[in-house]
Amino acid sequence: MKRTALLLGAALMALAPPALAQNRTTLDIYVIDVEGGNATLFVPPSGESVLMDTGNVAPAAAKRDADRIMQAVKDAGLTRIDHLITTHWHGDHFGGMAELAAQIPILEYIDHGPNVQPAQVVDDFLTKTYPGLYGKSKRTIAKPGDRLQVAGLDWRIVASAGQTQTASLPGAGRANPYCAGHTPGEDDPTENAQSVSSIISFGRFRVAHLGDLTWNKEFNLMCPVNRVGTVDLFVVSHHGQPISNAPVLVHAMAPRVGILNNGTRKGGQPPAMQVIASSPGIEDLWQIHFSLLSGQEYTQAGMFIANGVDEAQAAMPVQPIAAPPPGPNAPPPPQHNGPAFWFKVQAKQDGSFTVTNQRNGFTKTYAAR
Ligand SMILES: [Zn+2]
Repeated sequence: MKRTALLLGAALMALAPPALAQNRTTLDIYVIDVEGGNATLFVPPSGESVLMDTGNVAPAAAKRDADRIMQAVKDAGLTRIDHLITTHWHGDHFGGMAELAAQIPILEYIDHGPNVQPAQVVDDFLTKTYPGLYGKSKRTIAKPGDRLQVAGLDWRIVASAGQTQTASLPGAGRANPYCAGHTPGEDDPTENAQSVSSIISFGRFRVAHLGDLTWNKEFNLMCPVNRVGTVDLFVVSHHGQPISNAPVLVHAMAPRVGILNNGTRKGGQPPAMQVIASSPGIEDLWQIHFSLLSGQEYTQAGMFIANGVDEAQAAMPVQPIAAPPPGPNAPPPPQHNGPAFWFKVQAKQDGSFTVTNQRNGFTKTYAAR
């Protein structure tokens, strides 16, 4: 009996596919909690992976976020990252890059080019650290209109370095009815407006991830015609902050599901939540964190929220608080350095997809349209 079991075990191991292939038939997307930064991992059936951003920069946060990314990488059975897109040079997007590169090979580094917003920590990274990373593999500067070659995906760059796509993607290009009601925002001279922005298709399933692209660039991309078309999943721009996520973008793309990569006190302000909640055809919004800026009034049901804080409160605040003024003098947000949970999206070629909350196992399937 024992011997039979052993033989059977050996036979099963011999049949096991290599980790990379995993017999995956879905496009798997991990939206990883990096505390109000971004790290989103795309793994199509081919196993050729794309990671967008590497979390936060402060020394302890960089290691924490790189480790959280590695948990998703291992769950996906990857032994390397084929393409790393850094959307822009802000510390919540490139922070864990060096720590991650020390743990797993990265075959291509993609970014928008030089930093336009001088800052010591960024410029030190770009002159002293980054060349040593891409020097061992390769670096690509993304331009709008580019197609990133990823086996099994149609990956389009629609904005980069402040420029937006001028031609419409296949199937897109209709007049955008929301342009007439658009109010321009203030000019944004920061790195946010430089974000490398992507529209990704897997069969009939489409995702938008525009990084932290801001309001006026959204207008340039989406008006007078909608150059990107509609999407199924929108990884909400800029952590759900209201200086991004104009109705010309969100309502015209008409996502069925949004995922908010917010922090405990970053993103999710009422105006942005109202734009998403009133978007035509929206079915659900999933949040990587409860945000104090949403309060209970503008947040989602807890089933749709992946992470809490280290010192949980007995009750969540009902009223949203105002965001603190930017700068180093704000009191720290509620900390979350303990166990972290991702959202895993599994999409099929027919356009149907499932979202799972790793914290509580809550899962929901969205049928093909
Ligand atoms: Zn950001």
